[in-house]
Amino acid sequence: MNNEELIKKLIQKGILKTQLIIEAFKKIKRIDFVLDEFKNQAYEDHPLSIGFGQTISQPLTVAFMLELLNPKPGEKILEIGSGSGWLTALLAYCVSYPPKNKELKKFHPKVIAIERIPELKNFAQTNISKYNFILSGVVELILEDGSKGYLPEAPYDKIISSASASYIPVAWKNELKIGGKIVAPVLNSIEVYTKLNQDDFDIKIYKGFSFVPLVIENGSGSM
Ligand code: SAH
Repeated sequence: MNNEELIKKLIQKGILKTQLIIEAFKKIKRIDFVLDEFKNQAYEDHPLSIGFGQTISQPLTVAFMLELLNPKPGEKILEIGSGSGWLTALLAYCVSYPPKNKELKKFHPKVIAIERIPELKNFAQTNISKYNFILSGVVELILEDGSKGYLPEAPYDKIISSASASYIPVAWKNELKIGGKIVAPVLNSIEVYTKLNQDDFDIKIYKGFSFVPLVIENGSGSM
């Protein structure tokens, strides 16, 4: 498959729906985020190794999670587990998409992408630099344990994780704006938390996915 065929398939399956997300898939090429030995499989709909026991996510899963998250121009998004940087760049494309003129003054799109493996943070940096998102300040890559959230840039409009835990870390809930959304794997499901007020969330669960684990080091907070 090539990128056009992959996108067509994801639209036909009813996964990709939103114009901005479809455009992001067209512009941000997965081939720029895979290892050399897998370039010939870049547009197959399955995960691929990026080393260190981690994978670049399956296109269908990324498309499904992005549609749930619905990133919009101007938003500030926290991404946990940036890996190859592919989802980071897709998010950056969506949030930095030029708004209508009248909104330009308060337009500060930002993706804070957290990764715990130094080599993968560097891999993402190299890959995302093929686009203009790092120099322009839209993407900031951070080497940290993302299960603790990232307080210096909080609160966030949206939070997305590519690594699965047995619960949503409390820091993510606290660092989310009211009205904001978390899309994250919990075990083999994708959960969507919408923050209704300081204490209450609407929760939706979509079953039947698989993810690499979110590494939670000691003392990272509880339910
Ligand atoms: N969307 C990425 C997915 C990478 S796999 C892509 O398509 O390339 C998930 C990533 O989460 C891995 O790189 C892993 O190292 C990272 N990860 C796991 N636990 C983490 C933690 N506590 N903090 C930050 N990153 C974490």
